Amino acid sequence: MTNRIYEIYGSDAHEMTRALMEAANIRDHIPGKARIALKPNLILAADPDNGATTHAGLLSGCIEYLQEAGFRDISVIESSWYGERTERSLKACGYEKVLKKYGVPFFDLKKDETRRIDTPFRPMDICSRALDADFLIDLPVLKGHCQTAMTCALKNLKGCIPDHEKRQFHSDGLIEPIAALAAVLKPDLIIVDSICGDLYFEEGGNPVHTNRMFLGTDPVQVDVYGCQLMGLDKEDVPYIRLAEEWGAGRSELGDRDIVRLNEPAFAREYPGASGLVKKLTRNVHADSACSPCYASLARALYMAQRDGLQIRDRISIGQGYQGKTVKGLGVGKCCRGADKCVMGCPPTASDIFEMLR
Ligand code: SF4
Repeated sequence: MTNRIYEIYGSDAHEMTRALMEAANIRDHIPGKARIALKPNLILAADPDNGATTHAGLLSGCIEYLQEAGFRDISVIESSWYGERTERSLKACGYEKVLKKYGVPFFDLKKDETRRIDTPFRPMDICSRALDADFLIDLPVLKGHCQTAMTCALKNLKGCIPDHEKRQFHSDGLIEPIAALAAVLKPDLIIVDSICGDLYFEEGGNPVHTNRMFLGTDPVQVDVYGCQLMGLDKEDVPYIRLAEEWGAGRSELGDRDIVRLNEPAFAREYPGASGLVKKLTRNVHADSACSPCYASLARALYMAQRDGLQIRDRISIGQGYQGKTVKGLGVGKCCRGADKCVMGCPPTASDIFEMLR
């Protein structure tokens, strides 16, 4: 498989997952009779629309695609974070129905056997079902994290270790152990749920709707792209560089490496704006804005607030400004008639943040 990232916009996670897998022709890259394990993010018992957990549509789309391609040995594996029961998360995220419909088993990794594996950092206990998969599919949520700035493909693997190892990861400061785990447990495929990841907490609560998903095969490259989308530099997330150094993947990513299957569409009603997002966007005048455009702006405004910048200018965004003269700052190519405009469709949070500075 080439190291390309396939990206799609929409709100139907099931169909988007199928389209991504078709576009990347995944079936031709899985060995016949492979034991396939799907690893979503069920960190806690919370509805995926809250911005922390993987939408059930990714699971159903992925399983349906694989079964139609003739694969039979498919399972779902996961363990919620320390203190949460995985069965509760399974229920809250609506997975039981999907598993029943497709006849796929779920294995709670909190109950799994483990093996001690040497890693570049230290020996680690890792769950056997994750180690024994012939084809591991990582289904993370792209979201913020209060300690590591962001979490996506690399950090989602932390659900493949037992609880005592999770606690040790935190004592070790997270960075080295996350990178080391990825060096010995490499996912073969990553499909990222970036439909409404939380702005900055891994447990959700401030979902920002981007209505986007993307697929890749290199967890380091996927995380680098996640950083770009969230307005972060890859150096802001130190385990990415370390994971690359320890052989988990490569961080190279150019514009040509992104294959876009469609364009973002205007969100009729900007969905799920939390109190935080409302506060951040109080100077924003939106007219038919697409979700990913608005999400990039929300993230950039959050970064500006974090850095103590006072933003008092009027900010315009949305397709309704096409061909119009606009006062103040415009976001996205639709607002090219503004006094100052951050071009792009959608522009990245980094580009908007630079303009705000
Ligand atoms: S620039 Fe316009 S068309 Fe492009 S994402 Fe933003 S609002 Fe949508």
